Amino acid sequence: MSGKLVVISGPSGAGKTSVCRALKQLPGVEFSVSATTRAPRAGEQAGVDYHFLSREEFERRAQQGDFLEWAAYNGNCYGTPRWPMDEAIRAGRTFLLEIEVAGTRQLREKSVAGVYLFISPPSIEELKNRLVRRGTNTEQDIESRVRIAREEIEAAQQVVAGRPLYDHTIPNVDLEQTIARVAELIGVRR
Ligand code: 5GP
Repeated sequence: MSGKLVVISGPSGAGKTSVCRALKQLPGVEFSVSATTRAPRAGEQAGVDYHFLSREEFERRAQQGDFLEWAAYNGNCYGTPRWPMDEAIRAGRTFLLEIEVAGTRQLREKSVAGVYLFISPPSIEELKNRLVRRGTNTEQDIESRVRIAREEIEAAQQVVAGRPLYDHTIPNVDLEQTIARVAELIGVRR
């Protein structure tokens, strides 16, 4: 039996990382570890949260075709390594990608089969409060993440290759309810 790809996007601070953290505890679910050129945040582990690469190394791998998709976000590059996904799907697992909107568009353009979900914040004000409370971003970084969030919320409404970019948009008002809704949409048992 072949597995399933699940793409989860949403503005920084909308809660998608918390949703993914809960989902990856479930049996049969595997999480894609992306490559990035951004510096690790406090508490992040190499090979677990991200593969942290220099820009040269990232570009070399991108040119080599190692990434299923990649995009620039807030001055850094982020990409999905191709091979872990192929293996997980072949093995019948649910494979979760937490990626931004431009990367999702590349997957839709290539008609990559999967369930595409967008987690939205209850409001822009609440998003800003969450980023401030998180305390891991500078003021300038927060400003630019809020600006990108507005653009992403708009871009998420696009139609790509004849279908909506996302199959479902889930406003994250209550984290537990959001996790339950996502688990139901992707057909995994909690
Ligand atoms: P952060 O710096 O907050 O960890 O991530 C910034 C943004 O990059 C988030 O929207 C996250 O979902 C996205 N992202 C993380 N990994 C990838 C990836 O492999 N590809 C793409 N396109 N976006 C990614």
